[in-house]
Amino acid sequence: MVSKIGLIERTTIATLGSHSALQILKGAKDEGFNTLLISEKNRHSLYKRFSFIDEILTISRYSELLDNRCKQRLDDTNSIIIPHGTMIAYFTHQDIEHVSVPIFGNRKIFQWESDRNLKQRLMSASLLTTPKLVEHKNDIDKLCIVKLHGAAGGRGYFLAWNKESFEENATLLLNQGRIRSEDDLFIQEYVIGVPTYLQFFYSPLNRQIEFLGADIRYESDIDSIGRIPARQQLSVSLQPSYNVIGNLPLVLRESLLEGVYEMGERFVKAAENLVPPGMIGPFCLEGVYDKEGIFTTFEFSARIVAGTNLYINGSPYSELIYDKPMSMGRRIAHEIRIAKEKGLLNQLFT
Ligand code: AMP
Repeated sequence: MVSKIGLIERTTIATLGSHSALQILKGAKDEGFNTLLISEKNRHSLYKRFSFIDEILTISRYSELLDNRCKQRLDDTNSIIIPHGTMIAYFTHQDIEHVSVPIFGNRKIFQWESDRNLKQRLMSASLLTTPKLVEHKNDIDKLCIVKLHGAAGGRGYFLAWNKESFEENATLLLNQGRIRSEDDLFIQEYVIGVPTYLQFFYSPLNRQIEFLGADIRYESDIDSIGRIPARQQLSVSLQPSYNVIGNLPLVLRESLLEGVYEMGERFVKAAENLVPPGMIGPFCLEGVYDKEGIFTTFEFSARIVAGTNLYINGSPYSELIYDKPMSMGRRIAHEIRIAKEKGLLNQLFT
């Protein structure tokens, strides 16, 4: 499958129409690839506005990506699929592992992203500081954030500071049918500080890590509560959620950068040991900088994150490495192009 791509003249970069698709396909076009978008019908009108998308393959729902019609078109166009958050959210890791079309990156690591226990194991093996986990609601004795297993984008998260506040919110989620029991919830110490998303790219070709940007998410409606004075906040019953609406750019104090690279390098090394061949391409360490400048990692993403959409024209960090605008999407396509030229494409797939 991979050697076939190595031999052909034209290669197409394909992705699902959502998340970071525009950035990925713009970057692919800038690097000289054909581009193909697999899009749900209702998004067709959005995506057809962009001339760097050569072809839109319309589907009724994401699951059709696994059907023969899509597979045939992806094969005919010699496509490489670039996975992003929507793909991880809508497909099981078994689905992803069995897709016969080449997928950029290490397919096995996506399971480690979606399974909370494996995720914790990889973060611990990377010697990252992680928030204290609270095993049971009876043990809540400080401010905690309560998460839904596999919840996409922070939807349904809530804060609890004792057993009663946990039960009050858990009951709401039960009544809404969002969870089947309290066991579907996962309790973590709330870390006070600046939530920060650190965007990396690891190149298996030159065995180097690149730090390409940082962002802050703007979440509805936790981030807008500060616009309502305390008196009015108390007068309405607010139940904030952590649903991501967009991303804001962040440039870190230069003195934090050495630590950023060290965390990224430890993560790459641990991934190589636990999920061989390890990290391939983009990943993100997601956490909070406290007032001492210490970073506590609460999550990672083992693929491109939507916060990189900020830097379609390059970031203050990519500027230090490249003399052309280098988005994360373009960086992926650049890696594929170099690998193709050197006959090393097999290093970018599993
Ligand atoms: P996530 O979906 O896990 O990336 O989290 C969504 C949001 O919840 C983040 O952007 C943070 O604002 C917040 N968050 C998650 N975990 C923690 C934590 N342990 N401490 C503080 N805030 C958190």
